[in-house]
Amino acid sequence: MKTAIFPGSFDPFTIGHYDIVKRGLGLFDKIVIGVGRNIQKKEMFPIREREEAIRKIFKDEKRVEVRIYDCLTVDFAKEVGAAFILRGVRCMQDFEYERNMAEANKALGGIETILLYTRPEYAHISSTMVRDLYSYNKDVSAFVPNKLK
Ligand code: ADP
Repeated sequence: MKTAIFPGSFDPFTIGHYDIVKRGLGLFDKIVIGVGRNIQKKEMFPIREREEAIRKIFKDEKRVEVRIYDCLTVDFAKEVGAAFILRGVRCMQDFEYERNMAEANKALGGIETILLYTRPEYAHISSTMVRDLYSYNKDVSAFVPNKLK
């Protein structure tokens, strides 16, 4: 069975993330979404809320599991029996970042990273943008999956 983890901070989970998982299901038998802390980013939504929200989105998708993790990404992958890391790429900046992470994760744990390019219509969508809108009480429903609306 081919299992991948999709790690991220998902603060909050957006339609861009959702699209990567949906497309990833065409490549993998199972995807474990790993909700983690990114120490470089300021958190808005508590991690348990993020986990619950994502679980709700995928409640009818048996091949998707959602877990909080608090360790190295390669250790999380090993813990759930995944040989792959799934990530999304929007721009050159993402690409450079993802390349460094992929090299590190390959060297540290022999885990391969599979990158999917964003759908062009989602390229501008980020959790940061949604957090900004949210903090000014703006409508974010166009940027989050249906089940969170
Ligand atoms: P992290 O804090 O680990 O970067 P994020 O929650 O910001 O986690 O993102 C998780 C993954 O989803 C990353 O690979 C990121 O590039 C990807 N991603 C974020 N937004 C989009 C989008 N709009 N389209 C495609 N991929 C995306």
